[in-house]
Amino acid sequence: MPELPSVEDFRKEIDPNTINKKISDVRIIDDYILKTPKKRFKEEMVGKIIKSTSRRGKYIFIEIDGKYVLLHFGMSGEVKFYKRKSEQPEYSKIIIEFSDNTFLSIISIRKFGKVELIDDYKTYVNENEIGPDALDVSLEEFKEIMDYKKRSYAKNALMDQSAISGIGNIFSDELLFQVNVFPKTKISQLETEKIEQMYSVMKDILKVAIESRLSDKPYPNDFIIPHRSRDDNCPVCSTNIKRLKISSRHAFYCPKCQIK
Ligand SMILES: [Zn+2]
Repeated sequence: MPELPSVEDFRKEIDPNTINKKISDVRIIDDYILKTPKKRFKEEMVGKIIKSTSRRGKYIFIEIDGKYVLLHFGMSGEVKFYKRKSEQPEYSKIIIEFSDNTFLSIISIRKFGKVELIDDYKTYVNENEIGPDALDVSLEEFKEIMDYKKRSYAKNALMDQSAISGIGNIFSDELLFQVNVFPKTKISQLETEKIEQMYSVMKDILKVAIESRLSDKPYPNDFIIPHRSRDDNCPVCSTNIKRLKISSRHAFYCPKCQIK
Protein backbone atom coordinates (compact mmCIF):
# COMPACT_ATOMS: atom_id res chain seq x y z
CA MET A 1 0.00 0.00 0.00
CA PRO A 2 1.49 3.37 -0.96
CA GLU A 3 2.70 5.26 2.12
CA LEU A 4 3.76 8.89 2.48
CA PRO A 5 6.95 8.77 0.32
CA SER A 6 5.15 7.09 -2.61
CA VAL A 7 2.18 9.43 -2.37
CA GLU A 8 4.52 12.44 -2.30
CA ASP A 9 6.16 10.98 -5.39
CA PHE A 10 2.73 10.80 -7.09
CA ARG A 11 2.04 14.41 -6.10
CA LYS A 12 5.29 15.42 -7.74
CA GLU A 13 4.16 13.63 -10.91
CA ILE A 14 0.93 15.65 -10.93
CA ASP A 15 2.12 19.06 -9.75
CA PRO A 16 4.68 20.32 -12.31
CA ASN A 17 2.90 18.63 -15.21
CA THR A 18 -0.65 19.83 -14.69
CA ILE A 19 -0.74 23.13 -12.73
CA ASN A 20 -2.49 25.93 -14.68
CA LYS A 21 -3.63 23.50 -17.36
CA LYS A 22 -7.21 23.43 -18.61
CA ILE A 23 -9.12 20.16 -18.41
CA SER A 24 -10.58 19.40 -21.84
CA ASP A 25 -12.11 16.01 -21.10
CA VAL A 26 -12.41 13.34 -18.42
CA ARG A 27 -12.60 9.73 -19.54
CA ILE A 28 -13.97 7.27 -17.03
CA ILE A 29 -12.90 3.81 -18.09
CA ASP A 30 -13.97 2.08 -14.90
CA ASP A 31 -15.93 3.91 -12.23
CA TYR A 32 -15.50 1.56 -9.26
CA ILE A 33 -12.92 3.86 -7.66
CA LEU A 34 -15.05 6.96 -8.31
CA LYS A 35 -17.15 8.00 -5.31
CA THR A 36 -18.83 10.94 -7.07
CA PRO A 37 -21.57 10.26 -9.68
CA LYS A 38 -19.92 9.95 -13.11
CA LYS A 39 -21.96 12.66 -14.80
CA ARG A 40 -21.40 15.22 -12.04
CA PHE A 41 -17.69 14.43 -11.82
CA LYS A 42 -17.24 15.07 -15.51
CA GLU A 43 -19.39 18.19 -15.61
CA GLU A 44 -17.60 19.79 -12.68
CA MET A 45 -14.14 19.09 -14.13
CA VAL A 46 -14.30 19.82 -17.84
CA GLY A 47 -13.29 23.40 -18.68
CA LYS A 48 -11.69 23.99 -15.28
CA ILE A 49 -8.07 24.84 -14.49
CA ILE A 50 -5.83 22.90 -12.07
CA LYS A 51 -4.76 25.39 -9.39
CA SER A 52 -2.65 23.50 -6.88
CA THR A 53 -1.94 20.14 -5.31
CA SER A 54 -1.47 19.23 -1.69
CA ARG A 55 -0.89 16.06 0.24
CA ARG A 56 -1.90 15.03 3.72
CA GLY A 57 -0.74 11.59 4.79
CA LYS A 58 -1.75 9.17 2.07
CA TYR A 59 -4.21 11.58 0.41
CA ILE A 60 -3.68 13.98 -2.48
CA PHE A 61 -6.00 16.95 -3.03
CA ILE A 62 -6.00 18.54 -6.49
CA GLU A 63 -7.56 22.00 -6.41
CA ILE A 64 -9.66 22.90 -9.45
CA ASP A 65 -11.40 26.28 -9.34
CA GLY A 66 -12.58 26.13 -5.76
CA LYS A 67 -13.28 22.40 -5.59
CA TYR A 68 -10.92 19.52 -4.92
CA VAL A 69 -10.34 16.12 -6.44
CA LEU A 70 -9.28 13.75 -3.70
CA LEU A 71 -7.08 10.78 -4.56
CA HIS A 72 -6.46 7.83 -2.26
CA PHE A 73 -4.43 5.01 -3.67
CA GLY A 74 -5.68 2.05 -1.66
CA MET A 75 -3.58 -1.06 -2.09
CA SER A 76 -1.89 -0.45 -5.40
CA GLY A 77 -2.95 2.80 -7.03
CA GLU A 78 -0.73 5.30 -8.79
CA VAL A 79 -0.84 8.19 -11.26
CA LYS A 80 0.99 8.67 -14.52
CA PHE A 81 1.37 11.77 -16.67
CA TYR A 82 1.94 11.20 -20.40
CA LYS A 83 2.00 13.09 -23.68
CA ARG A 84 0.79 10.66 -26.32
CA LYS A 85 -2.55 8.90 -26.34
CA SER A 86 -0.76 5.68 -27.31
CA GLU A 87 1.15 5.79 -24.01
CA GLN A 88 -2.00 5.20 -21.97
CA PRO A 89 -0.91 3.01 -19.05
CA GLU A 90 -2.41 -0.37 -18.32
CA TYR A 91 -5.07 -0.41 -15.58
CA SER A 92 -5.97 3.25 -16.20
CA LYS A 93 -9.35 3.85 -14.55
CA ILE A 94 -9.83 7.59 -15.02
CA ILE A 95 -8.00 9.79 -17.53
CA ILE A 96 -7.93 13.56 -17.25
CA GLU A 97 -7.18 15.14 -20.62
CA PHE A 98 -5.74 18.64 -20.92
CA SER A 99 -6.19 21.21 -23.66
CA ASP A 100 -2.52 20.88 -24.69
CA ASN A 101 -3.09 17.19 -25.51
CA THR A 102 -1.42 15.77 -22.43
CA PHE A 103 -2.96 13.28 -20.05
CA LEU A 104 -3.06 12.27 -16.42
CA SER A 105 -4.04 8.69 -15.74
CA ILE A 106 -5.33 7.45 -12.40
CA ILE A 107 -4.32 3.82 -12.21
CA SER A 108 -5.59 1.09 -9.94
CA ILE A 109 -4.61 -2.55 -10.25
CA ARG A 110 -6.49 -3.92 -7.28
CA LYS A 111 -9.54 -2.39 -5.64
CA PHE A 112 -9.69 0.01 -2.69
CA GLY A 113 -8.47 3.18 -4.42
CA LYS A 114 -10.72 6.21 -4.16
CA VAL A 115 -11.36 9.28 -6.31
CA GLU A 116 -13.88 11.85 -5.12
CA LEU A 117 -14.86 15.42 -5.84
CA ILE A 118 -15.14 17.38 -2.60
CA ASP A 119 -16.06 20.98 -1.78
CA ASP A 120 -13.55 21.72 0.90
CA TYR A 121 -10.23 20.17 1.82
CA LYS A 122 -10.22 21.25 5.48
CA THR A 123 -13.77 20.06 6.16
CA TYR A 124 -12.95 16.69 4.61
CA VAL A 125 -9.82 16.32 6.72
CA ASN A 126 -11.77 17.11 9.92
CA GLU A 127 -14.79 14.97 9.13
CA ASN A 128 -12.66 12.00 8.13
CA GLU A 129 -10.24 12.43 11.03
CA ILE A 130 -7.08 12.50 8.98
CA GLY A 131 -4.38 13.29 11.53
CA PRO A 132 -1.51 15.74 10.96
CA ASP A 133 0.91 14.76 8.24
CA ALA A 134 4.00 12.91 9.48
CA LEU A 135 6.28 15.41 7.76
CA ASP A 136 4.45 18.48 9.11
CA VAL A 137 3.70 17.42 12.69
CA SER A 138 5.66 19.37 15.33
CA LEU A 139 7.58 17.72 18.16
CA GLU A 140 5.10 19.08 20.71
CA GLU A 141 2.14 17.69 18.75
CA PHE A 142 3.94 14.36 18.29
CA LYS A 143 4.52 14.05 22.04
CA GLU A 144 0.87 14.88 22.76
CA ILE A 145 -0.30 12.32 20.22
CA MET A 146 1.98 9.63 21.68
CA ASP A 147 0.72 10.47 25.16
CA TYR A 148 -2.85 10.07 23.92
CA LYS A 149 -1.90 6.73 22.35
CA LYS A 150 0.08 5.54 25.38
CA ARG A 151 -1.93 2.35 25.83
CA SER A 152 -1.30 1.28 22.22
CA TYR A 153 1.49 -0.84 20.88
CA ALA A 154 4.14 1.36 19.26
CA LYS A 155 3.46 -0.06 15.79
CA ASN A 156 -0.29 0.52 16.05
CA ALA A 157 0.16 4.07 17.37
CA LEU A 158 2.35 4.99 14.40
CA MET A 159 -0.05 3.44 11.89
CA ASP A 160 -3.17 5.13 13.26
CA GLN A 161 -4.04 7.59 10.45
CA SER A 162 -6.27 9.64 12.74
CA ALA A 163 -3.29 10.26 15.04
CA ILE A 164 -0.51 10.88 12.49
CA SER A 165 -1.12 10.37 8.79
CA GLY A 166 1.19 8.90 6.19
CA ILE A 167 2.91 6.00 7.94
CA GLY A 168 1.76 2.48 7.18
CA ASN A 169 3.02 -1.04 7.70
CA ILE A 170 6.38 -0.64 5.95
CA PHE A 171 7.51 2.68 7.39
CA SER A 172 6.37 1.85 10.92
CA ASP A 173 8.67 -1.21 10.72
CA GLU A 174 11.52 1.00 9.52
CA LEU A 175 11.00 3.58 12.23
CA LEU A 176 10.86 1.02 15.05
CA PHE A 177 13.92 -0.74 13.67
CA GLN A 178 15.95 2.45 13.60
CA VAL A 179 15.05 3.42 17.17
CA ASN A 180 15.51 -0.17 18.46
CA VAL A 181 11.95 -0.57 19.68
CA PHE A 182 10.14 -3.94 19.61
CA PRO A 183 6.85 -3.47 17.66
CA LYS A 184 4.68 -4.70 20.54
CA THR A 185 6.10 -2.26 23.08
CA LYS A 186 3.43 -0.08 24.66
CA ILE A 187 4.03 3.63 24.11
CA SER A 188 3.73 4.12 27.91
CA GLN A 189 6.88 2.01 28.32
CA LEU A 190 8.97 4.42 26.27
CA GLU A 191 11.03 7.19 27.86
CA THR A 192 10.50 10.78 26.71
CA GLU A 193 13.94 10.66 25.09
CA LYS A 194 12.88 7.66 23.02
CA ILE A 195 9.72 9.44 21.86
CA GLU A 196 11.86 12.42 20.83
CA GLN A 197 14.23 10.10 18.99
CA MET A 198 11.25 8.50 17.20
CA TYR A 199 10.15 11.94 16.06
CA SER A 200 13.47 12.92 14.50
CA VAL A 201 14.09 9.47 12.99
CA MET A 202 10.57 9.53 11.48
CA LYS A 203 11.34 12.78 9.64
CA ASP A 204 14.75 11.54 8.49
CA ILE A 205 13.45 8.23 7.17
CA LEU A 206 10.63 9.86 5.23
CA LYS A 207 12.96 12.44 3.68
CA VAL A 208 15.51 9.80 2.69
CA ALA A 209 12.72 7.65 1.21
CA ILE A 210 11.29 10.57 -0.82
CA GLU A 211 14.78 11.40 -2.07
CA SER A 212 15.43 7.75 -3.03
CA ARG A 213 12.20 7.56 -4.98
CA LEU A 214 12.85 10.84 -6.79
CA SER A 215 16.33 9.79 -7.85
CA ASP A 216 15.15 6.25 -8.65
CA LYS A 217 17.56 4.74 -6.18
CA PRO A 218 16.81 1.81 -3.88
CA TYR A 219 16.32 2.55 -0.19
CA PRO A 220 19.61 2.52 1.76
CA ASN A 221 20.86 -0.96 2.58
CA ASP A 222 21.01 -0.22 6.31
CA PHE A 223 17.22 0.28 6.25
CA ILE A 224 15.22 -2.80 7.28
CA ILE A 225 12.87 -2.24 4.29
CA PRO A 226 15.07 -4.09 1.73
CA HIS A 227 15.34 -6.95 4.28
CA ARG A 228 11.67 -7.32 5.25
CA SER A 229 11.60 -11.09 4.83
CA ARG A 230 12.04 -14.06 7.15
CA ASP A 231 14.70 -15.30 4.72
CA ASP A 232 16.83 -12.21 5.19
CA ASN A 233 19.11 -10.91 7.91
CA CYS A 234 19.40 -7.68 9.88
CA PRO A 235 21.67 -5.20 8.05
CA VAL A 236 23.18 -4.14 11.40
CA CYS A 237 23.82 -7.38 13.31
CA SER A 238 23.08 -10.14 10.74
CA THR A 239 20.48 -11.83 12.97
CA ASN A 240 17.66 -13.53 11.08
CA ILE A 241 14.69 -11.16 10.62
CA LYS A 242 11.53 -12.24 12.45
CA ARG A 243 7.90 -11.68 11.61
CA LEU A 244 5.16 -10.93 14.10
CA LYS A 245 1.42 -10.60 13.66
CA ILE A 246 -0.03 -7.47 15.21
CA SER A 247 -3.62 -6.33 14.58
CA SER A 248 -3.85 -8.35 11.34
CA ARG A 249 -0.61 -6.83 10.01
CA HIS A 250 2.80 -8.43 9.77
CA ALA A 251 5.63 -6.57 11.42
CA PHE A 252 9.19 -7.46 10.46
CA TYR A 253 11.85 -6.80 13.08
CA CYS A 254 15.28 -7.78 14.32
CA PRO A 255 15.00 -9.74 17.57
CA LYS A 256 18.47 -8.61 18.63
CA CYS A 257 18.36 -4.90 17.76
CA GLN A 258 14.74 -4.36 18.80
CA ILE A 259 14.73 -5.29 22.43
CA LYS A 260 11.49 -6.44 24.04
ZN1 LIG B 1 19.86 -6.52 14.27
